[in-house]
Amino acid sequence: MNTRDTASHGAFQLTWGRPSGMLTLRDWLAHLARTGRLATIDRPVALEHELAAIAKRLDATQAAFFTKPGGHDVPVVSGFMSRRAWIAEAMGVAEADLLKRFRDAADQPIPSKEISRAEAACQQVVHTGGIDLHKLLPIPTHSEHDNGPYITAGLVIARNPRTGVQNVSINRIQVHGPDRMAILLLPRHLYAFQKAAEEAGDALDVAIAIGVDPLTMLASQAISPIDSDELEIAGALHGAPLPVVKCVTNGVNVPAFAEIVIEGRILPNVRELEGPFGEFPKYYSAQEAREVIEVTALTHREKPIFHTIVPAEMEHLLLGAIPREATLLAHLQRSHPNVKDVHLSVGGVCRYHLWVQFEKKREGEAKNVILCAFGAHYDIKQVVVVDTDVDVHDPAEIEWAVATRFQADRDLVVIEGAQGSPLDPSTTVGQPEDAPPHLQGVSAKMGLDATRPVVYASHVFTRVRIPGQDTVNLDELVAADNAAFDSYLGGAHG
Ligand code: MN
Repeated sequence: MNTRDTASHGAFQLTWGRPSGMLTLRDWLAHLARTGRLATIDRPVALEHELAAIAKRLDATQAAFFTKPGGHDVPVVSGFMSRRAWIAEAMGVAEADLLKRFRDAADQPIPSKEISRAEAACQQVVHTGGIDLHKLLPIPTHSEHDNGPYITAGLVIARNPRTGVQNVSINRIQVHGPDRMAILLLPRHLYAFQKAAEEAGDALDVAIAIGVDPLTMLASQAISPIDSDELEIAGALHGAPLPVVKCVTNGVNVPAFAEIVIEGRILPNVRELEGPFGEFPKYYSAQEAREVIEVTALTHREKPIFHTIVPAEMEHLLLGAIPREATLLAHLQRSHPNVKDVHLSVGGVCRYHLWVQFEKKREGEAKNVILCAFGAHYDIKQVVVVDTDVDVHDPAEIEWAVATRFQADRDLVVIEGAQGSPLDPSTTVGQPEDAPPHLQGVSAKMGLDATRPVVYASHVFTRVRIPGQDTVNLDELVAADNAAFDSYLGGAHG
C-alpha cells in the first residue's frame, strides 16, 4: 500500500489519509467553505428547476449548499468535486498524479470493516414502514423536460446473487411514488445481478447511499471487473478499511458514514415508465419501461445532507472521467507499455472521446492502441493517438496533431456496427422508437492515428521551439513601470 502525502491548499494542511483521519463529506464541505469554495444559499429555493439552475450557474466555481430546499429542513449540496484540482486535493496528490493514485488504489483494494449498527452514523435515524420519500427527502427535478424528481448521486450497492460479492454503481433513479422508484440499468454489473436474480424469480436487494465523500464517489466509478467491490477501492483511496454497516432490512453493507441510505429491492418481472431525463451527453433519454425498486427502509444521520448531481455539470463529467481514465490507462498499458497518458475530453462529455499519448517504436502500433481502446469500454467512440511531445490534456494540441500528422486515407480506423453508448442520440438514427434494449446503442468507432512516422527527416517533423522560452524569468526581466519607454520617446508621442 502506498503511503499518502498530505496536500496543501494555501496555509491549510489536509489531514485525512493519515491513520487517524478519514475524509467524510462533512470534512470536505467544511474545507471548501474555509477556502471560499462553498456558496451557501440560505433562502427558500424550489426543488423544481430553481435549485439546479443555481447550482449550474456556480458550476466549477463553487459548491452550492442549499439550506431551505423546497420547504425541507434537510439541506442539499451539489458540485463539490467539479474541478480536477479539487479532486487531486481530496486525494492528497498533485494533479499530475491523479490517475496513478487512483490506479494504485484499484490495483490494491482494502477490504471494508463491518461495524455495529450502534456505531454507524448513517443509521442514527431509521424509518421503516409508511415511507414517503417526497416528504422525507428534498429530491430535485433538474432539467426542463425531466419526468419529475430524480436521485442522481446515489451509490447503488448490491450483492452478486451467484457469489455474494458487492458492486457499487451510480444509476439514475426516478422517484415516482412514495416508496417506489424506477432505475436505469446499463449493461454492466448491477444489470447482470438483476438479470440473474430475475431468472431465479427473486428480487435483488439494494441499498442507495447518498452523501458520501469525493473519494468514495470516485471509487464507485472504477471500471473494474465483476466481483471487484468498489468500496474496497474507496478504502484504498482513503488509506484505511472503509467502515461499513449492514442494512436494517437486507444483507447489503453500506458506507457507515453516508448521510442517507435508502434500502429496497429491485422487483423481478416488474417494469414501469421512466424518463425522459436530461443526461450527461446533454440530451434527454426517452421514456422507457425500466426496472423498479420498492423501498423497504430509509436511514440517515442526524441532520443529514442530501447530495444531488446536476446532470452534465463538471461534477458529473469528471466523476466519470477520472476513474475511467485511470482504468483505461491501466488497460492500455497492459498490452502497450509505451502508452504514457490518456484523457477523456470535456467536449466528448468525458466518456466518448479518448486521447492517448503514446511513444511509438514501430509503425502500425498506434492502430493496435486504437483497437485496444475500443475494447476497453463500450462508451469509447473516438480515439486519437498522439506522440509524447503533444499535451494530451489540451484540445488545441490534439487538433494540431491531427492537422499536421494525420492523413485520413491512411491513418483512419473505422469499425462499423459495434456496441456504443445507448445514451448517444446518434445511435438511435434509423431505429424504431421502441427498439428493444438488445438492439440499442449500436455505434461506429473512429480511430485517428495522429502520430508522426518513427523515422523522419528532422526538418519535416521537428516541432518549432524557442530556446529558453520555458525558463525566462519575467518577474526579473519586466520593469515595474514603462518609464524607460516614455523616456526614450522623450514625451514627443506622435
Ligand atoms: Mn463493478
